[in-house]
Amino acid sequence: MANPLAVNVTQAQHNMDAPLVMAGAGHTHLVAMRCWAEKGLKVPENSVLISPGTHAWYSGMMPGLLAGRFHVEQCAVDLRPLADAVGLHLVYGEVSAMNADNQKLVLSNNQSITYQVLSINTGSEPPVPKNDGSVPIEPAKPFANFFQRWQLWRQQPPGEIVVLGGGPAAFELVLALQWKLPTTGFRLICAEELLPGQPVELQRAAAALLREREIECLPDTFISNIRDGQLWSGGKIVAHPDVVVLATGAAPLPWYACSGLATDKRGFLRVDACLQSVNHPQVFISGDACSHKGSQRSGVYAVRQGPTLAHNVMAFLNDRRLRKYQPQPRTLALLATADGGALLSYGKHSISNTALRPLLGFWKDRLDLGFILRHERK
Ligand SMILES: Cc1cc2nc3c(=O)[nH]c(=O)nc-3n(C[C@H](O)[C@H](O)[C@H](O)COP(=O)(O)OP(=O)(O)OC[C@H]3O[C@@H](n4cnc5c(N)ncnc54)[C@H](O)[C@@H]3O)c2cc1C
Repeated sequence: MANPLAVNVTQAQHNMDAPLVMAGAGHTHLVAMRCWAEKGLKVPENSVLISPGTHAWYSGMMPGLLAGRFHVEQCAVDLRPLADAVGLHLVYGEVSAMNADNQKLVLSNNQSITYQVLSINTGSEPPVPKNDGSVPIEPAKPFANFFQRWQLWRQQPPGEIVVLGGGPAAFELVLALQWKLPTTGFRLICAEELLPGQPVELQRAAAALLREREIECLPDTFISNIRDGQLWSGGKIVAHPDVVVLATGAAPLPWYACSGLATDKRGFLRVDACLQSVNHPQVFISGDACSHKGSQRSGVYAVRQGPTLAHNVMAFLNDRRLRKYQPQPRTLALLATADGGALLSYGKHSISNTALRPLLGFWKDRLDLGFILRHERK
């Protein structure tokens, strides 16, 4: 299998015209491509998929990878076979700018691609607190970069790591990092409560687990500034770690703002019920990048948008009727505890019983590995 850590292997050689451009190999595009492949559907000739790397990482397995429970090859989908199956030409690169009026994308190497139909699934990045660069800051995404950093820490463990963020990703991440770096001190600093919006019982079990693993959790502590090696919350110094890991949620990628596509107040790309841009109907947007009423920014929602996106892109290309995407009112969350176990929440309900955790962890692994298997093409 090709190495998932390889990035920018080859670049687009020429400026291109494409009937369909799929920008980013996020969760939604993986599902859409799989749906087309299963139905034997092909995209129009000269259509392209743009990806910075050869593989698409599956976020649900990242904490397990860091905790040493998976190999890197198990956590990422090789894009070439999937792209080949649906007739997409794979272009290695990163979109750095877009002009929706001219239907044009510019890549970071300055090459440009003109499209007739565009689908954007380039995700988000964690918001970065104001800082003077005095403490190394490592965003949890892109995963390939974070994983490489992690391998260096394994060789030379930092004295103290602060993880910023209080949602499921931050909780799983701090447990996973601590699992493999027992000599490093860990703190989880949450702007609000720990696991906001989750059932109280689950929040309590999560807090107890952090205590058990000797990870200090500081809830309701918004880090307003990082300067002179210290983390400030308002006028108070709360930590002076060697490294800050960001799992602070989702912020839009910088180029969304100047793309010409309509955005919401935060800068995410506004779509209608069919996942079409509200001001450029030949542009579809899915996953974290889109601002869609009723959807949350998580892998679960990105995955569920896949079949609708698959249908709608093909329907738009063939002048057929589009379908509305109906987000599910609640989702199942299985939070990995680094030791092979997991905690569960579904709406107002949760299961955090110690005896059941290994079973929940086993279930989570089956679901995650199943996702990768379904998207692999030989
Ligand atoms: C550690 C961690 C664990 C998580 N665990 C879970 C979980 O268990 N369950 C869950 O529901 N959610 C989880 N999430 C949230 C989840 O990762 C995101 O909500 C989800 O990945 C969004 O999917 P997406 O389809 O929008 O894009 P992504 O999956 O983020 O993929 C975007 C893709 O676009 C590519 N890309 C980025 N910029 C560009 C560009 N400029 N040009 C071209 N390509 C680009 C990237 O390389 C990437 O392949 C986790 C997040 C983190 C940080």
